[in-house]
Amino acid sequence: MAETSIESGERPSLPMAGIPQPLREEVLNLPRVHFSSHPVMAHKMTALRDKNTQPPEFYRLVKEIGALLAYEATQNLALEPAPIETPMAPMIGRRLAGGIGVTPILRAGLGLAEAFREVIPDIQVWHLGLRRDENTLQAMEYYNRLPHKVDLQVAYAIDPMLATGGSAIDAINILKLRGIPRISYVCIIAAPYGLLKLSQTHPDIDIYVAALDESLNDVGYIVPGLGDAGDRQFGTF
Ligand code: URA
Repeated sequence: MAETSIESGERPSLPMAGIPQPLREEVLNLPRVHFSSHPVMAHKMTALRDKNTQPPEFYRLVKEIGALLAYEATQNLALEPAPIETPMAPMIGRRLAGGIGVTPILRAGLGLAEAFREVIPDIQVWHLGLRRDENTLQAMEYYNRLPHKVDLQVAYAIDPMLATGGSAIDAINILKLRGIPRISYVCIIAAPYGLLKLSQTHPDIDIYVAALDESLNDVGYIVPGLGDAGDRQFGTF
């Protein structure tokens, strides 16, 4: 999710207070939403959420979970024939067709971007900075390194926490303006509220989620969640 900005001395408002939220059960069968069901994922998620997990271990876990998510999110990618010679004989192999882009939403998406790069090293990384206004929870763009020339099979917008859905929706809007034919969204934890909003606003994208949580608290944090994914990766408490 986008960064928050707290001006010193200001009392934070409670932008989610009193806002109705869907139940988990109401979003379990949304079209094009894929929940991870792998036991290794569940095991790693428990270590990630634990408040005693320190930043170096937390970052390592984000990358491991990100690699599992990257495998799930890339399972339907198109391939093209690739003639090669093995030491034994010529053969027609297969390569991923077209470019693949990943857009980490700064800064919390950086660990997931590393994971995607480890799975597909020649992926393009398009950084996008969205800052969350903590009173309105609206996302505001402050950094954009998306190229103007786009030739991709698919772009993945990635952010560990899908909370209110504001920055996810904005990121997909920005990618759509670039004319990318296929866009997916990948997160570690989703709240039902943000997941429903994202799925309803962009019904044409696939959404990959490692874990679906209960709700958002009054300030828009996911419960039980894991706290602030950026702070926990980068040790800025
Ligand atoms: N961003 C986070 O880092 N954590 C949350 O719970 C919600 C948004």
